[in-house]
Amino acid sequence: MLTAVYPGSFDPLTYGHLDIITRAAACYDELHVVVFSNSEKNPMFSVEERVHMLQSTCGHFPNVVVSSSSGLLVDYAKKHDIRVIVKGLRAVSDFDYEFKMALMNKQLAPEIETVFMITSLQYLYLSSSLVKEVASYGGKIADLVPPAVEKMVMDKIQTMK
Ligand code: ADP
Repeated sequence: MLTAVYPGSFDPLTYGHLDIITRAAACYDELHVVVFSNSEKNPMFSVEERVHMLQSTCGHFPNVVVSSSSGLLVDYAKKHDIRVIVKGLRAVSDFDYEFKMALMNKQLAPEIETVFMITSLQYLYLSSSLVKEVASYGGKIADLVPPAVEKMVMDKIQTMK
């Protein structure tokens, strides 16, 4: 059985993430989609809210497991006997950071491979931070995130006012 992990902050989940999840779930027997909370400074959503967001959107994938972690990605992978890390790549701007992370993870755990999936063209410029920015100025985000996420973002913005 070949299991992969797709890590991210998912703050919030976008159609760009969902595209990678859909494609990766078709490539591996099992895909762990894991909310990592260590890197972002001021998240809009708590880890629990992001896990809930992923669970309510990925429920129809029989081989997708949603969870969270605050430790090292390679430690999560080792603990669950996972040999593949899936990352999404948008523009060149993602490349430098992802390259650095992949090399560091290789050094920490040489038996684990990082696999990059190139974004689908329509999601090239889609990021969680862009979604938050557009929504905070009252812009429409229905084309950028699933309906359940759109509602969570709108509700959160109301409570922040
Ligand atoms: P963001 O940069 O949007 O805050 P995350 O940390 O949640 O992203 O991203 C998790 C993973 O998903 C990363 O590998 C990132 O490159 C990838 N990703 C994010 N948005 C997209 C997209 N629109 N297309 C392809 N991959 C994406």
